Amino acid sequence: NNEEAAARAAAANADSGAPTIFDKIIAKEIPSSIVYEDEKVLAFRDIDPQAPVHVLVIPKFRDGLTQLGKAEARHGEILGQLLYAAKIVAEKEGILDGFRVVINNGSDACQSVYHLHLHVLGGRRMKWPPG
Ligand code: C5P
Repeated sequence: NNEEAAARAAAANADSGAPTIFDKIIAKEIPSSIVYEDEKVLAFRDIDPQAPVHVLVIPKFRDGLTQLGKAEARHGEILGQLLYAAKIVAEKEGILDGFRVVINNGSDACQSVYHLHLHVLGGRRMKWPPG
């Protein structure tokens, strides 16, 4: 099932600091369905959506931010820009009345791509607690 697949993918991926598939998406070497873009931030539809709206918000320059756990004081501005971009995405997608922003950090949280990303999820009723 989905949960096991995510766990397997996460276990297979460690934070090596190596470039990820998201660099190719940023460079537009791999096509993606872009929802929002500015100088610093790119938001595109997740290839394996877990809700009717499932958009990933990523920094265009990773600057060591493979995961939130690697954040340092200098990342404060981009972290704020990512969160604000999540709101813009929710607004554009018409889900401002109910959406969730998720960051999976590290293998225990099923992080599979080591380029910081926010998941913006909505368009259906969310459950709590998340799995
Ligand atoms: O939080 P996590 O690292 O597991 O999320 C990575 C996300 O990136 C997954 O939801 C996966 O579907 C998505 N992805 C994507 N396009 C790719 C590779 C992964 O949208 N080419």
